[in-house]
Amino acid sequence: MTLAELIPTLGESLRGHLEPGIWPRSTAHGVDGDLLLGGVPLTQFAARFGTPCYLLDELTVRQHCRDYRSALPDVEIAYAGKSMISRGVLRWIAEEGLSLDVCSAGELAVARSIGFPAARILFHGNVKTPEDLKAAIGYGVDRIVVDSLDEIEQLGSLARYPQNVLIRVTPGVDGHTHKAIATGVEDQKFGFSLASGAALAAVGRVLAQPSLRLVGLHCHIGSQVSRVASFEEATRRMIGLLAALQIKYGITLPQLDLGGGHAVPYRPGDPDFDLRGYADRLLRAVNYECSSYRLPLPRLTIEPGRAIVASAGVTLYRVITVKHGLSRTFVAVDGGMSDNPRPSLYGARYSVRPFGRRFSPATRPCTVVGRHCEAGDLLAEDVALPVDLRCGDLLAVPCTGAYHHSLASNYNMVGRPPVVSVRDGNARLLVRRETEDDLLARDLG
Ligand SMILES: *Cc1c(COP(=O)(O)O)cnc(C)c1O
Repeated sequence: MTLAELIPTLGESLRGHLEPGIWPRSTAHGVDGDLLLGGVPLTQFAARFGTPCYLLDELTVRQHCRDYRSALPDVEIAYAGKSMISRGVLRWIAEEGLSLDVCSAGELAVARSIGFPAARILFHGNVKTPEDLKAAIGYGVDRIVVDSLDEIEQLGSLARYPQNVLIRVTPGVDGHTHKAIATGVEDQKFGFSLASGAALAAVGRVLAQPSLRLVGLHCHIGSQVSRVASFEEATRRMIGLLAALQIKYGITLPQLDLGGGHAVPYRPGDPDFDLRGYADRLLRAVNYECSSYRLPLPRLTIEPGRAIVASAGVTLYRVITVKHGLSRTFVAVDGGMSDNPRPSLYGARYSVRPFGRRFSPATRPCTVVGRHCEAGDLLAEDVALPVDLRCGDLLAVPCTGAYHHSLASNYNMVGRPPVVSVRDGNARLLVRRETEDDLLARDLG
């Protein structure tokens, strides 16, 4: 008999404390193998709201907003709404004084429904349909970030002076991230290339539209970028372009938006993003480049999405079966790629923690898979799970606050999970579970 088997609680502590930076700040151990979030036992969430279920720790989201504002007090922080959008979350974002990025009429409708101030909204996207542009103009969003020559023409004819515009520039910087989320390199669908001269030409086209007022430049080099050097390099190139515009067009643009993409660790050992270091090096680069070109300092905007919400989220699943393959043990849960497509989109992997009872301290390597009809539908590979894990047990997957709810689908006609927020011991249903009636309502037969 091992020591951990003699003293059951030791098994749990051996299995490790909750890794900081991956779990929401209010996560703690409860009694009898339970975990707590915001003071509420996870078993209680599972019993009340069912599984799978997305949980969101309100104070972690708010704290991340405050971390950004205090690291960069003179910089506009615009939350990238696509990472996790719901009215409840946008209220927190508005209350914390952040601005908001949207990239469709639908995202704007959510912002509009809670009266998110139009003066703090930026509208993005490589495709903006006429309906998107009309919605943006109709609500009076402060800035539209133009992405193509066609869009400049269309917006020019729809807008009324002065519609503030930023131009999305592709600075040719590699963020060293997965190619599906690298958006700053040359030859991809976003923005105007700096190197080819397309960005410089786009400026001329915007200036020629009487209804548009060009206020600045924008770039976003990709997502899950942990190297601050990539952001510094993009910044240098963008300020070089501001200087070139002064020479070519005699204009001094007052704003520079340097995008988001700040990495978060999903598992222990993943590279983290040093916010203080980033803030320091970014401001130094801006100051240095502007003084060497004798440019006034632009008003800066940055656009974190994932870094605000990812580690505030935890998803709860129930184990439906444990199956022993030839060389692997498969643990299949009641969710999967419909609530989390990131593993199948770009090979993302998660850590997984069982909760809700005392488990054997002995573990074996397991592959945690979803319920959907695709072999790539898995959440974790080679994770150590208790040998006595069985049907009916509960699993918590941390770091699911960003690009989960917003990327969810109805694959296999599975209703999307609810989103439940928690704060100070109180759970609140932000988005209810999708029902079969919801699914059938759109199908007119
Ligand atoms: C997606 C996106 C962001 C946010 O990216 P994160 O990786 O979530 O920080 C910011 N700006 C633009 C234009 C984006 O498309």
